[in-house]
Amino acid sequence: MTRLLREERFGRTALLTQNLVPGKRVYNEDLLQRGGAEFRTWDPFRSKLAAAMIKGLPGAIVGEGAKVLYLGASTGTTVSHVSDLVGPGGLVVGVEFSPRVAREFVERVARERRNVIPFVADARDPSKYSVAKVDVVYCDIAQPDQTEIAIANCRAMLRPGGVLLLVVKSRSIDVLKDPARVFVEEKKKLESGGFEVKELVELSPFEKDHALIYATMRS
Ligand code: SAM
Repeated sequence: MTRLLREERFGRTALLTQNLVPGKRVYNEDLLQRGGAEFRTWDPFRSKLAAAMIKGLPGAIVGEGAKVLYLGASTGTTVSHVSDLVGPGGLVVGVEFSPRVAREFVERVARERRNVIPFVADARDPSKYSVAKVDVVYCDIAQPDQTEIAIANCRAMLRPGGVLLLVVKSRSIDVLKDPARVFVEEKKKLESGGFEVKELVELSPFEKDHALIYATMRS
């Protein structure tokens, strides 16, 4: 089942997620009634996952009931929508290493949402937040070695056949190199690390020099 709606608003495609905590906003999103339930608008200029979904990434990848390990939770804007998507039967483990940012994440998102577990930890050490196997690993940490970090987390916690969604910010990896080349190099690292790359979605015009790679881990 999907808790995601796609509709035309003001002449462009908009995404809405079913609000896990009706009546509560996380940022300045709109709350809208659709089919007897409350939905939140999901801004692709503020969330790379929304940008990728607007640009064709299938929404069903993060489905109802899924368990998600989210690396680079920041203040929780995207985590809150992932929490909506997986719903009350799902789980989002949010990892953020900056204590100041993590405090905001807890106050804005984790405190209100019972399917979100926050961890103040470095994604380089998955043993610090090891939980049971997850269905999806989402990684958006903007580090030069983030592909290696994502692979290590998948080996520790992703179920065989599970999904990796990796945000690549080309300037974090190499400021001088052509972004398209950086994206292909990171994709190759995943392929030689035991992943099948399904899609590479460039995120312009929502985010400059960013791509999201959708891959599955071979069993
Ligand atoms: N995904 C967020 C969103 O869409 O709302 C934005 C993430 S922001 C680009 C990157 C975040 O990753 C920052 O909050 C940063 O503190 C965090 N981060 C960077 N390196 C990390 C690491 N090694 N472990 C955990 N978090 C890290």
